[in-house]
Amino acid sequence: MERDKNNNDGMEKIKNTDHYKAQYQKDFVDKWDELIDWEGRAEGEGAFFINLLKNKGKNKILDLATGTGYHSVTLMSAGFEVHSADGSTEMLHKAWENGRKRNLVLRTIQADWRWLTRDIKERYDAVICLGNSFTHLFAEPDRRKALAEFYAVLKSDGILIIDQRNYDNMLETGYSSKHKYYYAGDRVKAEPVHISDDLVIFEYCFPDQSSYKLNMYPLRKDYCCGLLRGAGFQKITTYGDFQKDYGIKQTDFFIHVAEKQ
Ligand code: SAM
Repeated sequence: MERDKNNNDGMEKIKNTDHYKAQYQKDFVDKWDELIDWEGRAEGEGAFFINLLKNKGKNKILDLATGTGYHSVTLMSAGFEVHSADGSTEMLHKAWENGRKRNLVLRTIQADWRWLTRDIKERYDAVICLGNSFTHLFAEPDRRKALAEFYAVLKSDGILIIDQRNYDNMLETGYSSKHKYYYAGDRVKAEPVHISDDLVIFEYCFPDQSSYKLNMYPLRKDYCCGLLRGAGFQKITTYGDFQKDYGIKQTDFFIHVAEKQ
């Protein structure tokens, strides 16, 4: 694996916020559920998001990074009103199919986070951006613009739940993972093939020998919390692998709960 701070020749074109659409091509999207493994994921997450939203009295939810629909379906099945947005039509199509298999009809909205309010007029109790999705934004102005849009689609007492990989660990000590959360499937090898201060490339190798890459901006935890505060969120609570008490070095994923008031 490359650990290259300086030599970014040829990398500039893939450090681009719009690149996610090309990377989530149809055959990768078709394989996504094999990667995340819905049953394994349900075991890892438990009822964390359901309990969090219920305890805070939130019912109308916007899933901003629907992907293949895992959280939209889980929350709808638990009785929440959910709208499912994503910038990728391939993903939304798959999510809709996954909903139908479970007798649910997803209300899908194709929208890029940076221009959310152009397509979304309703306001929500909570918005969720899960599965290490925010990492796809490569420029700081894009991150700030997206968070301002997330803030705008929330009601005045709304909350944003956003998660991220523990990039601090990855940048400082290299990659390690318990493979317990999010990407719970054990048949797919998911590992970074490039790590530098402004680009991480993950490669996903499937049992049929196919492989796909995703480009990510390595968001440091404190930087991410700073962006949330800058967007106007008043209170931020961070969980490590779904626990309130966590060790930074032992954590795979951070979950930030950002409250508007
Ligand atoms: N939340 C799902 C999960 O956990 O399985 C999907 C996660 S996937 C890593 C990231 C998702 O974010 C993709 O479906 C992608 O299309 C979406 N996405 C990335 N950048 C986006 C943007 N700028 N606007 C809207 N959606 C975006």
